[in-house]
Amino acid sequence: MDHDELREWSKRAADWVHDYHASLRDRPVRAQVGPGQVAAQLPTSAPESAEPMEQIISDFDRIVPGAMTHWQHPRFFAYFPANAAPASMLAEQLANGMAAQAMLWQTAPAANEIESVMMGWLRDALGLADHFTGTIHDSATTATLSAVLTMREQALGWEGNKAGLSALPRLRLYASAETHSSVDKAARIAGIGQENLIKIPTDMHDAMKPGALAGAIRADRAEGYVPTGLILCAGGTAIGAFDRIADTIEVAKSEGLPVHVDAAWGGSAMICPEFRNLWEGVDGADSIVFNPHKWLGAQFDCAVQFLADPAPQIRTLGLRPDYLQTLGRDEIVNYNEWTVPLGRRFRALKLWFVLRAYGLEGLRNRIRNHVAWSRELRDALAALPEVEIVTEPNLSLFSFALSSGDRATEELLARINDDGRVYLTQTRARGRFVIRVQVGQFDCTREDVMTVRDVVAELKEGLE
Ligand code: PLP
Repeated sequence: MDHDELREWSKRAADWVHDYHASLRDRPVRAQVGPGQVAAQLPTSAPESAEPMEQIISDFDRIVPGAMTHWQHPRFFAYFPANAAPASMLAEQLANGMAAQAMLWQTAPAANEIESVMMGWLRDALGLADHFTGTIHDSATTATLSAVLTMREQALGWEGNKAGLSALPRLRLYASAETHSSVDKAARIAGIGQENLIKIPTDMHDAMKPGALAGAIRADRAEGYVPTGLILCAGGTAIGAFDRIADTIEVAKSEGLPVHVDAAWGGSAMICPEFRNLWEGVDGADSIVFNPHKWLGAQFDCAVQFLADPAPQIRTLGLRPDYLQTLGRDEIVNYNEWTVPLGRRFRALKLWFVLRAYGLEGLRNRIRNHVAWSRELRDALAALPEVEIVTEPNLSLFSFALSSGDRATEELLARINDDGRVYLTQTRARGRFVIRVQVGQFDCTREDVMTVRDVVAELKEGLE
């Protein structure tokens, strides 16, 4: 295939994408295939000779869409959303077409400078203090890992990267059980160890208890551990829990610990001033991550990390060998020094397109609708016999179960996802198997959301 052919096929691909999106409401949301079914349709080795694109596309059409879970389906209420607003898809096409590697300012000046400007736009849109700068990672997992590696180096007086960890004191991180498993992964990869990630108990609102945090830090110091950092939850994955950011940051600061806030999902909602009380005190954090690729409409992947001071993270992650120097311009920001991978995609472009194409007010309206519809759905489900709301809405996420117990609830979930009109997933809360509902798909309507009530009412029959 050459660029002339690409032009023609790109037009056909654009038509395909249009028709795919137009057909979504008629498709089951969750893939209805079993393991191995797709692989069984592919040859076991690559072709020796080139094949015609017509054939490749026809195989794509035959094999792929029917074996996908449709994340852009308006009735996707599982996990968290991974929204791809049309303007964001367009930006991705343009970025893919240029296919630049934005590792240094000089390898992609526009990508670098648009990234800096977007960080300022987003910081202000979320109502964060002026001192925050930021960068874009692929995922929140990488941003949290970067923050934890930085905490480790600060705690070890910058000796970890240099001398390795074996002869150094044991470090301790603190988080609540409501934080995402990416925090556990960061503790493991950073060499701090799962056993040294201390999960602080939560109160009746699922928020970390500041007193218990202070006690754990003091006890650890007394036993010779080195308290290293605090990771807070601003919208946990299971039930949307929020830690009391101001109170816990106060404890961390009095103990001299840096703080990272995981707002991967909840952060997008902070473009609405009325939700900011949920993370009151966040300006005291050293690092905050949120994923515009979840609720804001920037196509996956796009995770933004705000930093009160980027210097410690650059000192931890930045390397500048001869071949990466920008001769005569070494004072310039090179974002690869703020992040784990050297290579970087031009992710800022989709933020620029999304923020302009919908405007903050357009994005706020969507999020406000999602929160309102989720509460309406909560009430409609609560009115059904045998349905119990187990955790109340945090922003647009709540959970429910059947009063007859875990087995019936699990069976109901299987029925719902085999049916395909909506897609929901599970977690455990209050000691029970519960079904999560999160409302956040970019194109969903109130009617789409209320379909959950009808599906549950119909499919729970015979289960109680
Ligand atoms: N933090 C929270 C609260 C999440 O919900 C998720 C993913 O859903 C993550 C972190 C990890 O996000 P990513 O997939 O961008 O690594």
